[in-house]
Amino acid sequence: MIRVNEVKLSVDEDRKLLKNKIAKKLRISPEEISSFSIFKESIDARKRHEISFVYIVDVEVTDEERVLRKNKSLQKSPDLRYRDAEAGDGVLKHRPVVVGTGPAGMFAGLILAQRGYRPILLERGQDVDARTRDVEEFWHNRKLNPESNVQFGEGGAGTFSDGKLTTRTKDLRSRKALEEFVAAGAPEEILYAAKPHIGTDILKTVVKNIRGRIIELGGEVRFGSKVTDILIENGHVAGIIINDKETLPAEAVILAIGHSARDTYQMLHAREVNIRQKPFSIGVRIEHPQTLINVSQYKEQAEHPRLGAADYRLTYQSKNGRSVYTFCMCPGGTVVAAASELNTVVTNGMSEYARDRENANSAVLVQVGPKDFGSEHPLAGIEYQREWEKAAFVSGGQNYNAPAQLVGDFLAEKPSTQQGDIKPSFLPAVTFTDLKQCLPAYVVESLQDAIASLDKKLRGFARSDAVLTGVETRSSAPVRIERDSETMQSMNVAGLYPIGEGAGYAGGIISATVDGIKVAEKIIGKFKPFSG
Ligand code: FAD
Repeated sequence: MIRVNEVKLSVDEDRKLLKNKIAKKLRISPEEISSFSIFKESIDARKRHEISFVYIVDVEVTDEERVLRKNKSLQKSPDLRYRDAEAGDGVLKHRPVVVGTGPAGMFAGLILAQRGYRPILLERGQDVDARTRDVEEFWHNRKLNPESNVQFGEGGAGTFSDGKLTTRTKDLRSRKALEEFVAAGAPEEILYAAKPHIGTDILKTVVKNIRGRIIELGGEVRFGSKVTDILIENGHVAGIIINDKETLPAEAVILAIGHSARDTYQMLHAREVNIRQKPFSIGVRIEHPQTLINVSQYKEQAEHPRLGAADYRLTYQSKNGRSVYTFCMCPGGTVVAAASELNTVVTNGMSEYARDRENANSAVLVQVGPKDFGSEHPLAGIEYQREWEKAAFVSGGQNYNAPAQLVGDFLAEKPSTQQGDIKPSFLPAVTFTDLKQCLPAYVVESLQDAIASLDKKLRGFARSDAVLTGVETRSSAPVRIERDSETMQSMNVAGLYPIGEGAGYAGGIISATVDGIKVAEKIIGKFKPFSG
């Protein structure tokens, strides 16, 4: 196969024309192409009248050597196949345990199961169907289940999400993750789209199918099973306690708990597992009409059916020195209530595969760090998050309404009293107020500076009736559970493998899955498959 870059089709050209375009680029006839596959498809919208699809393709030709001789700058396609890790000699006395079934835990479990290690996956939340009912109950009837919500349950924090699968990592394991997603029911296009996304509706089926596969391969998945303690003997993990009563002996425990398991962090700290503070970001969700984003990005072609809902990613260095950036932008999506603790308000965003809702939303975040937390305690960042989440609950009216403000009022420093033309999508509802009540002054200042300036990069971003909903506090973990970079084990508890977003080693669905695959490889490399 030969890798060919920069094959272009205009938005109006049919994909069937690709073969001819490739042939032209290779200076051969279309008949000499035996087959080709798209490696990457992206949209080039830099020229307003000439929006095009740009492809990287892998091409099989009848005489590869001749084509390569003729096109000296071309190369053979790289081999992207995932290679199984070689199994070690160690003997596992107990089945490996995976705590958490978010992307990190689910993929650690899947790889271990595929190799015959029969992992036990423990999840504090519920299976995705029961969890969906619990989440709906919260969004519609204001009843939050602290153990089954947008953060906790099958599929982890990513299940109710936009399901963006973009990542900056070049790690080949990300390809393995995408292939497994497709095998579990995700659309094939995620394998080549430059900005792949699944959407909550499809993700629910995907996680269910991955669970089915793990069980089929001899693994076990238990819901409503919270790890409440960890047994450590002579610096090595010896087992765990589930729901304060059941003891499960284990010498390999993968901790894939996500960034919201505050009680679990507390327990780990009490057991003297090395944890330290870590910077993260807080801010608000901003909502615009999706049409505004489409017009800003695609101009006259904004309504073109092949382009779909446009996205954006913006960064800004605020005058007070803090970095501000948009994060987890959800085209055609909704702002969601993502709290996991009673009497708190937390925002996030999600969308369905079609991305066809009226509004676009994105977090606008300001970086905060240990100097803002007011204490050197390793868990001080959690207290800091909680303080603002509680303040948001109070500002919203103490009924799980989220506090909201119009951009015009936020910039003019006056409270909002009602919505403008943009209808906030947050459920159960928002309360228009002054967001200053629930954000630190330096965050408000950075956001005001950034939002006004970002309007120059994306026209309409600071539109006066755009809606800001607070508070977005769970952008990433406020701690890092320290681990050895080579073995991936805790720095001071052998056999404990902290991974994923909660341990501070991933940010997003794909990087969490990659971390999960890596840790499975570490365990495979150390032990023989479980045979007990
Ligand atoms: P998590 O997904 O948080 O999973 C951790 C799991 O561990 C949870 O299911 C939890 O219940 C369980 N757990 C915790 N403690 C215990 C315990 N003591 N015992 C047993 N189980 C426990 N990222 C993207 O890349 N793209 C997106 O579009 C995107 N959208 C998002 C939208 C929303 C609403 C949210 C909340 C997040 C979104 N993210 C997105 C972030 C992404 O979901 C996370 O980065 C990712 O899920 C982290 O994976 P993880 O496996 O490390 O942790």
